[in-house]
Amino acid sequence: MADSFDVVVVGAGPGGYTCAIRAAQLGFRTACIDDWKTAEGKPAPGGTCTNVGCIPSKALLQSSENFEHAGHAFAEHGIDVKGLAIDVARMLARKDKVVRQNNDGILYLFKKNKIAFFHGVGSFVGGAPGAWQIKVEGPGAASLVAKQAIVATGSKPRALPGAPFDNKLILDNDGALAIPDVPKRLGVVGAGVIGLEMGSVWRRLGAEVTILEVLPTFLGAADEQIAKEAWKLLTRQGLAIRLGVKITKVAGGDGVTVEYTDAEGKAQSERFDKLIVSIGRVPHTAGLGAEAVGLKLDERGFVAVNADCKTNLEGIWAIGDVVRGPMLAHKAEEEGVAVAERIAGQHGHVDFNTVPWVIYTSPEIAWVGQTEQQLKDAGVAYRAGSFPFTANGRARALGDTRGLVKFLADAKTDRILGMHAIGPMVSELISEGVVAMEFGAASEDIARICHAHPSLAEAVKEAALAVDKRTVNI
Ligand SMILES: Cc1cc2nc3c(=O)[nH]c(=O)nc-3n(C[C@H](O)[C@H](O)[C@H](O)COP(=O)(O)OP(=O)(O)OC[C@H]3O[C@@H](n4cnc5c(N)ncnc54)[C@H](O)[C@@H]3O)c2cc1C
Repeated sequence: MADSFDVVVVGAGPGGYTCAIRAAQLGFRTACIDDWKTAEGKPAPGGTCTNVGCIPSKALLQSSENFEHAGHAFAEHGIDVKGLAIDVARMLARKDKVVRQNNDGILYLFKKNKIAFFHGVGSFVGGAPGAWQIKVEGPGAASLVAKQAIVATGSKPRALPGAPFDNKLILDNDGALAIPDVPKRLGVVGAGVIGLEMGSVWRRLGAEVTILEVLPTFLGAADEQIAKEAWKLLTRQGLAIRLGVKITKVAGGDGVTVEYTDAEGKAQSERFDKLIVSIGRVPHTAGLGAEAVGLKLDERGFVAVNADCKTNLEGIWAIGDVVRGPMLAHKAEEEGVAVAERIAGQHGHVDFNTVPWVIYTSPEIAWVGQTEQQLKDAGVAYRAGSFPFTANGRARALGDTRGLVKFLADAKTDRILGMHAIGPMVSELISEGVVAMEFGAASEDIARICHAHPSLAEAVKEAALAVDKRTVNI
């Protein structure tokens, strides 16, 4: 006998579990299916983000930053550390504990919201609008019928052609987060968010890190001024970043040898102890049974959706990494909430222009809205104002005055069009830019708001003042 639900969500990553919670809050009888499991075979909801993405990477970034501070920054504070050492096994065990806390938190939230959780692979097996049939295979085997179904099956790492992941020598994000000993020479293919974050972790712990990037520009999606600053600060830390690289061969053996042509077209060969490949992610639809019901995928394998996350089939929606748009956990969450609300007849809304981007290197990099290049290309008249952390009292007290905050505002109306930052804790500061843009604020609004002193947020206020060329502290 099949179990009937108003809403069935396939996938319990940030998109899926958030969607399930919002659907349950709205009064729908809701189920969520997820196949991720711990080494012991227990359910591990949370998807890529919780298990091998956002959360474990931030845990390792924190551990490695603590290690680096203890070795390099504490002395200035009069703190002498003798016998400093890193126990990688303990660091990884802590990371695993943080992940488990998040898995358990999601299981608790399912119970609290009376969401039926099924552990296993969910696939469409038939049905029609109003009654889609979904089979669960695995420990939570079941047959479900859904009035509304949401596909939130996420993404998988993309491999280099001819160099499949073995997670011993050639590592995906999962392997990169579980290297048992600090490698002497670490290669990273791809200077995107994941490559820079993973490269930073292992460099801080003592690896010699070389990042190979196919594109000729560094952080092309970021504002040029911020990307230039990031290049200066990250290469100064010892990350060797080579741009415009074309990889011709990856060979295993004693370590990994990568052959490539450099930006000048010269043939190069480098040997690494391990190679992290972070060249993007591909949508994950294997096992979903899309073909059984005629669910349409686009030419790149994403589930095809319209602006409202509706698929070609009535009552089937898709959200998160498995559909177009930025592959970010908070984008997936927002789509999950919006879809649940649309099902309830409400007006869920996601504006990609106010989705913030963050790279958790040291210093952090964050932005929202348009870059100067984009505004120039679009012929928009704008005013820019920036403020460096060197002139911020809290940053001096913290001992981290690297970077700046910058606002871009419409030249006529002063409406904020973008905020860009590199510096301490800008992952937190960027929220002010997001709120301002969502409320259609002008740079003058930020400039006139009282900010606590001393705080890093004062650099945000000063950058807004700089748009009108009236900074106070510089
Ligand atoms: C190393 C790394 C660091 C990252 N850091 C950040 C960050 O700091 N900030 C950020 O915003 N984003 C970050 N991301 C990206 C973020 O993880 C993804 O954007 C996010 O996880 C997408 O969420 P999702 O719900 O769409 O899919 P996922 O998180 O991929 O979850 C999909 C879930 O569905 C399950 N599933 C798939 N098919 C089926 C099926 N047929 N039946 C049952 N279950 C199924 C999967 O096993 C998985 O559990 C990072 C990614 C990586 C790899």
